[in-house]
Amino acid sequence: MQIKEFDTVILGGGPAGFSAGLYAARGNVSTAIIDVSMLGGQPSNYLELENYPGFSKIGGFELMEKFEEHADKFGVEKLPMQEIDRIDLISNPKIIQTKELEIRAKSVIIATGASPMKLGIPGEAEFVGRGVSYCAVCDGAFYKDKVIAVVGGGNSAVEEAMYLTKFAAKVYLIHRRDELRADKIIQERAFKNEKIEFIWDSCVREIIGSDLVNAITVENVKTNEFCEIPVNGIFPYIGICPNVEGFNGQIAQDKNGFIITDDTMKTSVEGVFAAGDVRVTPLRQVITAAADGAVAAVYAVKYVEALEEVKV
Ligand code: NAP
Repeated sequence: MQIKEFDTVILGGGPAGFSAGLYAARGNVSTAIIDVSMLGGQPSNYLELENYPGFSKIGGFELMEKFEEHADKFGVEKLPMQEIDRIDLISNPKIIQTKELEIRAKSVIIATGASPMKLGIPGEAEFVGRGVSYCAVCDGAFYKDKVIAVVGGGNSAVEEAMYLTKFAAKVYLIHRRDELRADKIIQERAFKNEKIEFIWDSCVREIIGSDLVNAITVENVKTNEFCEIPVNGIFPYIGICPNVEGFNGQIAQDKNGFIITDDTMKTSVEGVFAAGDVRVTPLRQVITAAADGAVAAVYAVKYVEALEEVKV
């Protein structure tokens, strides 16, 4: 089996990963980005972004291409589409075992992101980017004077429903029970918002449309009655899960599995840093992921340099 050695290995090729790659390689340490899929991360699937500073409007794929080109400029080695068999963050060096490679790293930056939990209903995957969105901040502005459904009863669903009322004519908040899970203070604000109509005890069963979404089918789980509600968009907010497969449990995580870091993105394991959506953070955006990546890389480089000094 071929062995490759790097000073810093970054798990995940999204905004946090590319930013970390660029900062680490520019910090003059040998750097690789490994991903289980194509590089680009979640934003590659966004139609457009209007909130990345410096670009009043840019396609998600195009922005990620720019991130990649920038990391390339500093000589980051890219290893996309890797089937990872084993990750050992505790050993020194850290080991990432793929089907063909054993990758050894003095430091690791985890930038694997998080995935929105899916409803798993007909039409959901088909209409992503055409009426189904998991990011109100990214896509809310496209729904000016439209009708939107938000699914969920937690803080995210309720807060994002309120945010969407800035643009939409009406927002249905569809929850599977008759009581919200969200904090009381957030609930009270939402109940006062005249643009939000609550649909209780209900689950969305199907998303319907042609080019774009135009309706949803909703079942009242108490009466088992179905109804079709015309909407232009649907935002499921039923929770997100961190992408921690392969190393879950090797580092300190919160009760939902998100990685706990300090301000320097250091995790509970020496030489392991985390950046972007996979860590415990108050905002999950391209800009915050990129910022995390920069911080993580600067401190990973310092860590590697300190190891070298000890050797001398
Ligand atoms: P969450 O608190 O886990 O809430 C998920 C909601 O989705 C729950 O109401 C749940 O219903 C519902 N749900 C789950 N699976 C569903 C399904 N298959 N179909 C329909 N509904 C489903 O998730 P979150 O709102 O994303 O929040 C995650 C964490 O971040 C929480 O700890 C939250 O407090 C925190 N957060 C905090 C803030 C803030 O403090 N401002 C903002 C956002 C998030 P049930 O209630 O019936 O289980």
